[in-house]
Amino acid sequence: MEIKKYELPILPYEYNALEPYIDEETMKIHHDKHHAAYVNNLNTAIEKYPDLFSKSSEDLLINLNEVPEDIKAAVRNNAGGHINHSAFWQSMSPNAGGEPKGKLGEEINKSFGNFEEFKNKFNDAGVKRFGSGWVWLVVNKEGKLDIVSTPNQDNPIMDGQKPLLGNDVWEHAYYLKYKNMRVDYLKAWWSVVNWEEVNRKFEI
Ligand code: MN
Repeated sequence: MEIKKYELPILPYEYNALEPYIDEETMKIHHDKHHAAYVNNLNTAIEKYPDLFSKSSEDLLINLNEVPEDIKAAVRNNAGGHINHSAFWQSMSPNAGGEPKGKLGEEINKSFGNFEEFKNKFNDAGVKRFGSGWVWLVVNKEGKLDIVSTPNQDNPIMDGQKPLLGNDVWEHAYYLKYKNMRVDYLKAWWSVVNWEEVNRKFEI
């Protein structure tokens, strides 16, 4: 059987492309060190059970109960980290931001009142995530838009939700520039959100 290891995706823009909202050094460390470590640690964990390399990282995370006990925690953390960061890079773009258009924009207004209220609620959930984790816009099990947050590298797919957009509120995502002011990072981040990508996921 040919083994295909998990791979670090290429950042779809330059490290400095999201300046001044996300600084170049943070992007370098975040992608080349943190995300790379999740990928390497996932590969190391799976090496003991190489049949699992045939599964996507999403399959592993959704079906954690089928993962051997001795690597379950490593798979949860590192498959989660790989999935979350892969989506994170795609969900941002230079010359992005603004407001979501089309049906997604309408659904956000319907679900949260208006775009400003949606952002406030999302930022608030991000501030309140104690320790490390993520804040998400998801389609929940009832098919409605919702804002949730997850600890560590957990992903909403573990709860049967469909993540459309996630922001990383681990300190490594913002501390060099924003220090202890997570809320300032959360507010600035909207200027780099790639709504075309969020829309694409919404419409699948
Ligand atoms: Mn991160």
